[in-house]
Amino acid sequence: MAYLTQPDYVKYVCTCGQLKPITNLYFCRHCLKIRCGFCICHEVDSHYCANCLENMPSSEARLKKNRCSSCFDCPSCFHTLSTRATIAQPRQDPAGGDAKVENKQPKKMYYLSCFNCRWTSRDVGIPDQPVASGGWPERTNPFAHRFSQLLEYYKAIAQQEKQEKLDRERKKFAIRGKYITLTDKTGLTGAMARNIAGLPSSESSSSAIANFVPSEATEDVEELPEDYHTREVNLKQITTMPQRLAAPEWQAQLVSRLQPLARPLSVKRSQRCRRCDHNLTKPEYNPGSIKFKIELLAYYHVPEVKIISYETIKPGGTSALLLKLTNPTAHEMQLRLIRADDVPETQEEEPKSIEKSLEKSLSMEKDTSWRQVVERKPVLPALIKVNNPEQTLTLAQRDDAAEYDDDSHHDTNDVILWRKSNKLALRLQLETDENAKVGEPAQAVIAIEYSYRNTVPPSATSTQHRDHTLYTTVLIDLGLVSE
Ligand SMILES: [Zn+2]
Ligand SMILES: [Zn+2]
Ligand SMILES: [Zn+2]
Ligand SMILES: [Zn+2]
Repeated sequence: MAYLTQPDYVKYVCTCGQLKPITNLYFCRHCLKIRCGFCICHEVDSHYCANCLENMPSSEARLKKNRCSSCFDCPSCFHTLSTRATIAQPRQDPAGGDAKVENKQPKKMYYLSCFNCRWTSRDVGIPDQPVASGGWPERTNPFAHRFSQLLEYYKAIAQQEKQEKLDRERKKFAIRGKYITLTDKTGLTGAMARNIAGLPSSESSSSAIANFVPSEATEDVEELPEDYHTREVNLKQITTMPQRLAAPEWQAQLVSRLQPLARPLSVKRSQRCRRCDHNLTKPEYNPGSIKFKIELLAYYHVPEVKIISYETIKPGGTSALLLKLTNPTAHEMQLRLIRADDVPETQEEEPKSIEKSLEKSLSMEKDTSWRQVVERKPVLPALIKVNNPEQTLTLAQRDDAAEYDDDSHHDTNDVILWRKSNKLALRLQLETDENAKVGEPAQAVIAIEYSYRNTVPPSATSTQHRDHTLYTTVLIDLGLVSE
């Protein structure tokens, strides 16, 4: 695995044409293709607070505006705030008798404090609370009413457009004479059908559109105060831009007006192959768990290429490149290095239709345009040629116990430097083009043909073979061309 600060020297070409390190890629065992974050489908599984680990369904998260109700971030430095307890002495009543004061017990009170910048809720005059969690005064958004108006209006518009599309489709089918409406068949009324489909009635949406008052631009604006340009500015009292934007509803200009920020919720997401709809990753539901139920990472399925060392790349010169190849799978792997141009073109078959005919007839079918994965081959640099070894290499399966073996096999030759369990080191000869310019990035492209055994249990309808020949292309960063 790469260090976070280290650049990625070896990048794999994703099916969609993106160049990514192997640790950022997925491998669909059903399509047998590499996928990256750009060409998969991201789904939210659950919402949770990363601080108190409370999780909630998405409807509740939406109600709470995707924020935790018991955790707060510092409005000054955005660190998580901690609750501090303090003993409140009963207030001395100057006019009252002493007997009254004696009866009052010291009470525990709570306030919020930032351990990073020492901001406290007392700084801005928020009274201490008698309970440790919750109960903090909530400020209402001054524009809440307008926001709900806008939201209703746009919901109504979306609803109207959906209805129009539905009517259009229905007409189209009716003309063709093939369409039997659900209402004809079952005696349902249109309103009932809409109800079943989860659409609100059309009357309420049209009234929301009719009653909507659009905003208007005006030239009358409040004058700036007289001393606006002459008043001395104390930067310690004025909030920074990030501090203002962290609370867009209020955008406090003065530090004394900052309020604790309710902590935004995090999500657990699962990822799906867009082509075949199978899960590539699926996390455990429990927010405290970092484990996955499904985890199809390229790192476990595609041979890993690492640079051991290389000689300086010079225009018109030859240099040696030492690579380490690793077989991460539990099966023996046959490998062959080929030129990137020799990778055969593969056409992906159309995905199997999962829409049901009823959904189709109601025009409620899924929009499947997002499922088209655009396959692209990036323009790869061709300045450096690799003199590939014209031989097939065999890599043993991954064996975790072999990690502790010291003896590496030395069945070496000109190409294979050493071999150890599921890894081997290769010496390649690079030839640089004469026209390469000094200072240009030196990048070599290598394609690998490898055998892959699919361990997906074959389904009754599947005609898939277990053994496949797959290809992957890697771009190796070798610094700059130098003299
Ligand atoms: Zn797939
Ligand atoms: Zn991709
Ligand atoms: Zn929380
Ligand atoms: Zn702070």
